Amino acid sequence: METQKQFWFIVGSQFLYGDEVLEIVEKRAIEMAEKISESPLIPMKLVYRGTVKTEEAATAFIKQANYDDDCLGIVTWCHTFSPSKLWLNGLKLLQKPWCHFATQYNREIPNDEIDMDFMNLNQAAHGDREHGFIGARLRTPRKIIMGFWQDEEPLRELGVWMRAALGFSESRHLRVVRFGDNMRDVAVTEGDKVMAQEVLGWQVNTWAVGDLVKTMSEVTEKEIDELMAVYLEKYELATDRTDAIRYQAREEIAIRKMLDAEGAGAYTNTFQDLYGMEQLPGLASQHLLEEGYGYGAEGDWKVAAMTHLVKVMTEGMGGGSGFMEDYTYHLVKGEEYSLGAHMLEVCPTLAAGKPRIETHHLGIGMNEKDPARLVFEGKAGSATVASLIDMGGRLRLIVQDIECVKPIMEMPNLPVARVMWRACPSLMEGAKMWIMCGGAHHTVLSYDATPELYEDWAEMMGIEYVHIGKDTTAEALKMQLMLSDIAWKLR
Ligand code: MN
Repeated sequence: METQKQFWFIVGSQFLYGDEVLEIVEKRAIEMAEKISESPLIPMKLVYRGTVKTEEAATAFIKQANYDDDCLGIVTWCHTFSPSKLWLNGLKLLQKPWCHFATQYNREIPNDEIDMDFMNLNQAAHGDREHGFIGARLRTPRKIIMGFWQDEEPLRELGVWMRAALGFSESRHLRVVRFGDNMRDVAVTEGDKVMAQEVLGWQVNTWAVGDLVKTMSEVTEKEIDELMAVYLEKYELATDRTDAIRYQAREEIAIRKMLDAEGAGAYTNTFQDLYGMEQLPGLASQHLLEEGYGYGAEGDWKVAAMTHLVKVMTEGMGGGSGFMEDYTYHLVKGEEYSLGAHMLEVCPTLAAGKPRIETHHLGIGMNEKDPARLVFEGKAGSATVASLIDMGGRLRLIVQDIECVKPIMEMPNLPVARVMWRACPSLMEGAKMWIMCGGAHHTVLSYDATPELYEDWAEMMGIEYVHIGKDTTAEALKMQLMLSDIAWKLR
């Protein structure tokens, strides 16, 4: 990943073992951080920052980590024994994600060489237990990874946690621009924006559609020509309504200018408020999604923000992520599927082939002209859908495993992009459990974001996390939701 951002590797020890041991500890920690950073499973650098030997040092490292904008989180490990009272005051101040990597420099116990000197130098097995206790005692959220530092599985876990930590950082300064309000009478897309900022950092504010229309009127023909060239390179032209496509380009350029001027990563609009616009942004929103902006329809700022965060966390993974809506079911026995789509705004990173630009009439909303949009089929493969909802006083993130398939019918008259999938554990059970949790019709669908990534992120953010997978049962989920409700009320 192209970024300055890094993680700090802070190693635990103490002065008990003498300078020679501490020198070896430092040399090995540098080597480990360098080798770990070289792994293709690790998306960002891990940098050795120092060894904690005193209470003052632990506190100083953590204070620096909190205020260094390039530090995304700390990874700790105890090569030797590092008494946790040294760490207590520091860890109480920690405001960044923490990963406790329980590992060991050597893979094997060296049969012939092992003596008490070896034992004194290599005591992570009990050093990491003392370190674990203080995390448990302080109830500090942390990811615990256990494994040999050169093995694939622990490094894979560390890589996922790093991506979640990047999402934590992005979340803390995310701005969401709302063009128009929420769709009238809809409940699930509403939410407490002050709580969202307090808990997640999101700044969600409104901008007048009139300002967008004014910005659109200032877009030049040259700017439109340039974006048209991009469209024609990326997509297949399947309409002769060039005027409709040019209008979408005008909308895209104007939306992007306003988002960039505010430093915003996501936006919403609503078909109920398009005053002064001839078309609901379709192709415009789809290309902005492809470029990494988050989008939520009908004023859904939570899904807009989540879409952007997922795109940031999964950068470079190549699968694709976008805004989605459960639209309609195919309930034939043995071939039960959900058909996902939206009025227009399905992200082309989900496409199996080259998207086609088409224009069609859109009856919903206030479209004077037929909007141009991208039409395509979604990819087959394992994916997830995620929904963040406001439970009143707290946020709940619901993640479900899904299996996408090539749509089983052509649907030649359906004028929008479509993705077809089967929810886990089955369409019937999966949909029932989703409804039980209160999950929205709007989701982030991602071929890259795993339940593990979402769980790591939710834990960092301090929000409730619910996962529906192949082994989830309605009975257990019902109990989990009830207990979780009590636990969150006690917080
Ligand atoms: Mn919708």
